[in-house]
Amino acid sequence: MKDPGVVIVGGGLAAQRCAETLRRRGYEAPVRIVCGEPEAPYDRPPLSKAVLAGSAEEETTAFRPTGWYAEQEVELLLGAPAERLEPEAHRIVLAGGEELTYGKLLIATGGAPRRLPFLEGYENVHYLRTLADARRLRGQLRSGARLAIVGAGFIGQEVAATAKGLGAEVTIIEALEVPLAPILGAELGRWFADLHQEEGVRLLTGAMLERAEGDGGVERLLLADGTAVECDVVLVGIGTVPTTGWLESSGLPGNGVEVDNHGHTGLPDVFAAGDASIPFDHRFGFYARTEHWDAAAWQGAAVAKAMLGEEPGAPPLPSFWSDQYGVRIQSVGHPQHGEQVLVEGDPAGRDFEAVLVRDGRPVAGLTVGRPRAIPALRKQIEAAHKAASDKEEVAA
Ligand code: FAD
Repeated sequence: MKDPGVVIVGGGLAAQRCAETLRRRGYEAPVRIVCGEPEAPYDRPPLSKAVLAGSAEEETTAFRPTGWYAEQEVELLLGAPAERLEPEAHRIVLAGGEELTYGKLLIATGGAPRRLPFLEGYENVHYLRTLADARRLRGQLRSGARLAIVGAGFIGQEVAATAKGLGAEVTIIEALEVPLAPILGAELGRWFADLHQEEGVRLLTGAMLERAEGDGGVERLLLADGTAVECDVVLVGIGTVPTTGWLESSGLPGNGVEVDNHGHTGLPDVFAAGDASIPFDHRFGFYARTEHWDAAAWQGAAVAKAMLGEEPGAPPLPSFWSDQYGVRIQSVGHPQHGEQVLVEGDPAGRDFEAVLVRDGRPVAGLTVGRPRAIPALRKQIEAAHKAASDKEEVAA
């Protein structure tokens, strides 16, 4: 029987990497990318940085020139969200009713911003995940605009930095006492708080947003302690949820798909990668959703190799970067597992590296203004874990 080929659901980074790896490695059967968005696959990090700042055109985010898909015989079905997976029939059903049969399937539907129901319907409330979101937010970010950002995670912080550059007045409302503390710990979290305050951002921490007031658009946000934040524009950046609700009837969980090192789900011929997946980290022995660019890129390519029966190798440690106020911040490892932080350098001068340690072993590294330090930190974490597991093996 003719190979029905690979169907990739989701048209983001993981999808792109899977398609191009399949073709590069000589796969000749059909490859189809099904994407809910109307755009061909594009890169998201610039949406909170150069594209939002207006210093890069939207077109520069495209992973490949439009002609690439036809040349490579990768069929794009855009604006066509998948609605259902029928694993026994090796079939997916699109919102319009069209059915696609697959030999192998990649779930790469990414994540979507977590929403605040009481802010629905206001014309000046924004979330940031897609090009359309960035376009809409950019249209309202004038110089002097009062921007209220709900959530001091990386999206909120990057938008704060970009909006300051555009001349906006920025207030961040953060429920935690210290931004990012559950991920990076209080000491590094305080560094981020200081960074934004030094740049003139008003940062309200331990701040519980209760409700909004305004006619058509939000005019003020009201906090539990009675503080009113007057605003012209609101950005909500309170994390994402995996876009896997469409899988509910398939037997796969609707809150992210757990996968092994190479993207296998519990279903035959069904793989998952990127922000929609929850990969197993063999080094540390737990499942962890990474939600970062490097992981989505690696996993998309790894799934292509696994589909072809190749051995993709061990996944690299998770890593990410963030750009704020012209400073490059990078992380490698699992910082949320650190218990102690060892800092070397000049935090006040935005030039330092930190090693996060647990049980005497490095589990993560964070660098600020030191991109060249990351490979050494990566080696240090990997070597410590290899030494520990060798010791455990000998003991067993
Ligand atoms: P996505 O890129 O989210 O792609 C998923 C695609 O699937 C989307 O096009 C979506 O519309 C589509 N889809 C969803 N449901 C369906 C359906 N049912 N049917 C069909 N299609 C569907 N990471 C970093 O490491 N550093 C950064 O600086 C950084 N900056 C970022 C800035 C922004 C504004 C954003 C949003 C993310 C940023 N990231 C960053 C994270 C990084 O971009 C993501 O981890 C990466 O895009 C994940 O890729 P993905 O392919 O898993 O999912």
